[in-house]
Amino acid sequence: MDEIVKGLSISQGIALGVAFHFIIPEELIPEQIISSHEIEQEIERYRKALEKSRRELEDLQKLVLQKGSFEAASILDTHLEMLKDPMITTEMEKKIRKNQKNTESVFQKVIGEYQRHFNENHDTFFQERIPDITDVSKRILAHLIPSKKFDLKQIPKGSILYATDLSPSLVAEIDPEQIIGLVTEAGGISSHAAIIARAKGIPYVAGVPIDKLKNRSPLKMIIDGDEGIILLAPTDETWENYERKSKKKKAYYQTLQKNADLQPHTIDGEEIELYGNLENLSEIDPFIKQGFAGIGLFRSEYLFFTKKYFPSEEEQFQIYKEVLEKLPSHPVIIRVFDVGGEKRLEGGKTGEANPVLGCRAIRFLLKNREIFEQQLRALLRASPYGDIRILLPMISDISEINATKELIEKIRQDLKKENIPCKDHIPLGSMIEVPSSAIMADVIAQHSDFLSIGTNDLIQYVLAADRSNPVISHLYTPSHPSILRLLKVIITAAKENQKNLILCGEVAADPRYIPLLLEVGIRKFSIAARHFPEVKNAIRNVDLKEKKKSPPARITR
Ligand code: PEP
Ligand code: MG
Repeated sequence: MDEIVKGLSISQGIALGVAFHFIIPEELIPEQIISSHEIEQEIERYRKALEKSRRELEDLQKLVLQKGSFEAASILDTHLEMLKDPMITTEMEKKIRKNQKNTESVFQKVIGEYQRHFNENHDTFFQERIPDITDVSKRILAHLIPSKKFDLKQIPKGSILYATDLSPSLVAEIDPEQIIGLVTEAGGISSHAAIIARAKGIPYVAGVPIDKLKNRSPLKMIIDGDEGIILLAPTDETWENYERKSKKKKAYYQTLQKNADLQPHTIDGEEIELYGNLENLSEIDPFIKQGFAGIGLFRSEYLFFTKKYFPSEEEQFQIYKEVLEKLPSHPVIIRVFDVGGEKRLEGGKTGEANPVLGCRAIRFLLKNREIFEQQLRALLRASPYGDIRILLPMISDISEINATKELIEKIRQDLKKENIPCKDHIPLGSMIEVPSSAIMADVIAQHSDFLSIGTNDLIQYVLAADRSNPVISHLYTPSHPSILRLLKVIITAAKENQKNLILCGEVAADPRYIPLLLEVGIRKFSIAARHFPEVKNAIRNVDLKEKKKSPPARITR
């Protein structure tokens, strides 16, 4: 008999494979008591790890200096200084002697205290050092536990990965040919891990108690992402049925893909513009192949997600320039780092009780001017290479737009003095994703060159329903009347102020919502390349003239 576990549908599709329990590497650090005669040995092991880290950092520094990246070199300087900090050297040795535990477990605790200490200090300088501490500690830990960095390639091909939770950066690294499905206990429909899984076409079910799967390997498993269920140890008959279903679905998707050349317009001839949501440069070609209006949302924070540091101005400049040169005749909207909330630097803890309501996105950037200036300089320097537009995440007040404008102006003057070319005007847009900016959309529109609706966040903030929490996913309702009412407010504000408006939340990637969104008045959508065939198909099946005759339908998930 099949054992069916009900969860929450995160990414549609069917996967048939063998379950693989993925334990977050940090959990692997063992805590062992050591005898007194092992103490010196442990300390020696620790000193060697520090020495290896120091040499590694020095080599890296030489390399970046050769490439002329002075900023990266100065970050590495900070890391080298940290290796000399008494907390890392003498204090650590004292703690190994006192606690009589293995070095890595003591080290993890010491670093935890170090981070907490920096977190509690609200000074920006200390806050900015947190990613550096995380980075240095990972480097040292990697020398203490050489296999610590888990290589996803070690997971057998065709595995369905299950874990308590998955970070967006990890999902971003997954090869869908190798890991064919995902199951987690945590995670909501609009979590960033979910967005990436959908963009890659990996079936995903969340809200599954992981204890049900543990210690049962090898366990054959089927994910039915459409129904939000998983089937454990399925019978041969079920397996074959699902194999057939999966083939049928893939064939349907391929048929839709063949229509890549068709224009996204409604039956009654209304032209709709489809833009692309970009997290990874390799996704540009699929957009070009499917005919798109431009990049509607480049989530630039993905540039540092898999790294452990914010990329330097030069690194960023090269990336932005590359995207613009690849797309000479398309607008490219680059959103400045939306860091904080769910999207923390790998392993970074903010110490905030409510990070989603805390120092996130534009708030983080305005508090961390060095990082913001570095990014804006890179964007301004890239501006002569194409039609670049800058988007500000999580705007909740016009003061944030004004502060950014001032900063841009200052950077423009600096670049002028340095004889570095830069466009005179770069359109600056605001994301409408918190209630205050939706309610004040007319004022935000007057202060912005264009608007972008981030429904993923807007829904979570308006309905007070965490986008990553499967327990309250039934409250996370894109078609809730309050959301539709706010969409209309935003659409009217954009129209009256003659500003472009794009909707870039995940609701636009779900074909079921397309008729409703068109009906309320959205005409530009930004979605991942993978969703183009289905969304185009949905648009081409809507008759807006006909729709006006009937009341809008409420959609339930
Ligand atoms: C949104 O909130 O809808 C959005 C597009 O931004 P993100 O998902 O990156 O928060
Ligand atoms: Mg958002």
